[in-house]
Amino acid sequence: MPGYDFDIGILGGGSAGLTVAAGAAQLGAKTLLVEKEKELGGDCLHHGCVPSKTLIRTAHVYHLMKNANQFGLPAVEVKPVDFREVAKRIQSVIRVIQKHDSEERFCKLGARVRIGEPRFVDEHAIRLNGETLSAKTWVIATGSSPSIPPIEGLDKTPHITNREIFSLEGLPKTMIVLGAGPIAIEMAQAFCRLGTRVSVIQRSNQILSKEDKDMADQVMHVLSNEGVVLHLNASVISTKDLGTEREVLIKTGEGETISLKSEMILVAMGREANLGALGLQDIGVEFDRKGLTLDERLRTGHKHIYGAGDVTGTYLFTHAAGYEGSIIISNAIFHLPRKVNYTFLPWCTYTNPELASIGMNEKMAKAAGIEYSVWSEEFKDNDRSLAEGEGIGKIKMLLDEKEKPIGIQILGSRAGDLVSEWVAVVNGKVKLSTLASAVHPYPTLGEINKRVAGTFLSNKIFSEKVKKGLRFFFHLRGRACGQDVD
Ligand SMILES: Cc1cc2nc3c(=O)[nH]c(=O)nc-3n(C[C@H](O)[C@H](O)[C@H](O)COP(=O)(O)OP(=O)(O)OC[C@H]3O[C@@H](n4cnc5c(N)ncnc54)[C@H](O)[C@@H]3O)c2cc1C
Repeated sequence: MPGYDFDIGILGGGSAGLTVAAGAAQLGAKTLLVEKEKELGGDCLHHGCVPSKTLIRTAHVYHLMKNANQFGLPAVEVKPVDFREVAKRIQSVIRVIQKHDSEERFCKLGARVRIGEPRFVDEHAIRLNGETLSAKTWVIATGSSPSIPPIEGLDKTPHITNREIFSLEGLPKTMIVLGAGPIAIEMAQAFCRLGTRVSVIQRSNQILSKEDKDMADQVMHVLSNEGVVLHLNASVISTKDLGTEREVLIKTGEGETISLKSEMILVAMGREANLGALGLQDIGVEFDRKGLTLDERLRTGHKHIYGAGDVTGTYLFTHAAGYEGSIIISNAIFHLPRKVNYTFLPWCTYTNPELASIGMNEKMAKAAGIEYSVWSEEFKDNDRSLAEGEGIGKIKMLLDEKEKPIGIQILGSRAGDLVSEWVAVVNGKVKLSTLASAVHPYPTLGEINKRVAGTFLSNKIFSEKVKKGLRFFFHLRGRACGQDVD
């Protein structure tokens, strides 16, 4: 076996790459981490999760200020938002988290970090800044970029993506959002709350198209009530730069052509894997626009070259990237064959209310031909939600024929946190009776989890059969009020 420079080489220092690098280095593998940007952290830290959630929080506080009178407080006259201040707060949060993802920290863990743009020269070696570096195992974790669709005129019309939106010089007065996936919808609500007049253009008949329509429609109604204008069943024909404004021509479901104008266009129409610059075609690694061709152990056609994170083209989330990183550690470092299993991969869209999901929703269950029953509870019946002024939303629990949970969706305040209890339930195969009988603190939003399990079980507990048995053994005498009173 030839002597390689490194045991493992990782391309991309984002969520997936950092997970593999930290794990491999701490387990004693001679680890190389190559990142193209000056700083580690990837999209999640610099242009994704962290800035978006920081912005969403700022927008939420501003929204509460504007609605102070709904909480029994004096109405507040709020000043317009200076987006440069918002951007400063975003950068300050990124700076704190950056320390966890610094070159120094990874060096302390034992990984060698190199900045540059690598290209494979053969199956085991890359060319980087004029040097050739080889490794026994490689991991491709170069993430994804916003996909810019071939819309007529878009290449000549100024527009922004998630890479620019968190560092704008000022708050746009108007914004057209192309797309209605999680990124588009989170940003639409946040900017609308900050004072931008936002329009969203969506090709299909619902926003957040992976979600069940009833849940997504509730999110849409919240956005719409807050002032976001939504154009569903609308396709973008062309865009044009009008100087101070941009024009977007759309065709509605009724076949009408409408001209929309705004100061800014946000393109959020999906993602493309960052794979083009790595020389993969030269070494026979298969990929397309969405991602790498991988087996269940995340290996490419060359069994020593793995892929993790957004380059898999499957679940584009930071926690998915981390999970995939851990699968690679098992396979490549421990040599334990471990396959990915996304059955219970949770996710959340951080609108207010949030929409979180784990396992199958109704759309997925129908597509898979699975018989299921739905049990649900509404947040308007949860005491804490009412106290918080957050009574919108519900939980939906899907059970299969054997009455086992196959999926849970939660639409409500803090849904992303609430779904964590279900992460433990479904992964730990916890019985619904255990969840329903476990004491939860009162008053909490989390009681809705216990309650939906209890609603399902109460049908069994309070059945005629049980009542008959108790009457027979313990001589219970039935109703004391209402019909059939003795
Ligand atoms: C606006 C927005 C909000 C999001 N919010 C959430 C959220 O709330 N929760 C969630 O779970 N996910 C969220 N995501 C998704 C999340 O950011 C990604 O799924 C995650 O970052 C993927 O990790 P990764 O390691 O695959 O890619 P990245 O984190 O992007 O890392 C890839 C790294 O590779 C580097 N790279 C690229 N090309 C090369 C090259 N040729 N050579 C060397 N290095 C290269 C990049 O510079 C980058 O550092 C959000 C995404 C966006 C855009």
